[in-house]
Amino acid sequence: MAYLYFDSAATAPPVKEALEAAERAYTEYGNPSSLHGAGLAAKGMVDTARRQVAKALRCQPERITFLSCGTEANNQAIFGLAKTRGKRAKKIITTDSEHPSVAEPLKALEKEGFSVVRLSTKGGVLDLDRLKEELREPVAFLSIMRANNETGAVYDLAGVRKIMTLCGTDAPLHCDGVQGFLKVENDRLASICDLVTLSAHKIGGLKGAGALYVSERIRNLPAYLLGGGQENGLRSGTENVPAIAAFGAAAEKAADDKERIPYLASLREQVKRGLEDSGVILHIPPVHLPNILHISIPGVPSSWALNFLAAKGICVSAGSACSAREKKKGNPVLSAFGLPAEEIETSLRLSFDTRNTGEECALLCDALRECAKLKR
Ligand code: PLP
Repeated sequence: MAYLYFDSAATAPPVKEALEAAERAYTEYGNPSSLHGAGLAAKGMVDTARRQVAKALRCQPERITFLSCGTEANNQAIFGLAKTRGKRAKKIITTDSEHPSVAEPLKALEKEGFSVVRLSTKGGVLDLDRLKEELREPVAFLSIMRANNETGAVYDLAGVRKIMTLCGTDAPLHCDGVQGFLKVENDRLASICDLVTLSAHKIGGLKGAGALYVSERIRNLPAYLLGGGQENGLRSGTENVPAIAAFGAAAEKAADDKERIPYLASLREQVKRGLEDSGVILHIPPVHLPNILHISIPGVPSSWALNFLAAKGICVSAGSACSAREKKKGNPVLSAFGLPAEEIETSLRLSFDTRNTGEECALLCDALRECAKLKR
């Protein structure tokens, strides 16, 4: 089925290079831990992917651990840091708009006696004054996302690191970099953060691979999955070689393509302009990703808009894909952004990929303008 796909923040279409790398890995099907030729070939593919992802993140390959997804990387980072740092301090600093794969582990830690401070991200801006205050006391660790998956807001992590240095804290900084990876121009996440989470399927790789960057400053992070000791002991389990090889290929392609970010930004800009005078409300954070545009269509509940657009073969999302089936619980991320209930109920996330064309964006704008007339 041919879709007009504007939901790449949920999952991006895999790039050709990723599919080719996966196919090679399915053909060379050895287990990377085996010492024979087939095993060495598979290990070679994992090593290549590690170099490619590391180069894209601007870090040393040995600092990259492959695991199954961004969710697993966030859980590994958070529960690992809680174990190593929990004896020194019980306070964790995060934001009020993290993805559930960060927010839920932190809620679990609260039940175990940690106290969690959630910095405001109202209007898409991180409350750095509160951070300064909170760092007066010892902190176990911080977990702050690079960019928000619903609003596209990019948070000031360089500012966070600056304040951490000024306050003299030794607490590690973890970052959920899933949405920001390769979408923020000249990003230096690995030099700002101690741990960074990445996910393959948001950058044109396949589902089933994620990565965790762990800087050399973090020693003895305890493994979450125990077993055969793969991935330097941090992530046991036979590596998903096709998905890892595809991750590396997608990261290399995206990092090498200097036109990619400006192209995504131009599509977003086209849709923004195309919605002028349509009555559609645009929610624009001061610093934002090039590929996410969050809107509300006054008087048109998200479910109506999703059905209306789906009937035309247009795929967008109402908030994040992960929470789409739990809308009745409200949307904490959009509330944290400061949207009133009416704008949350009528909100849509449009997200762009390099495969989208200007023509497709024009069709999207026409459909959204039509949709705005459904007003209840
Ligand atoms: N973090 C953010 C910001 C995300 O947007 C997502 C997925 O939507 C994840 C983490 C989880 O990644 P994965 O789907 O690879 O588990």
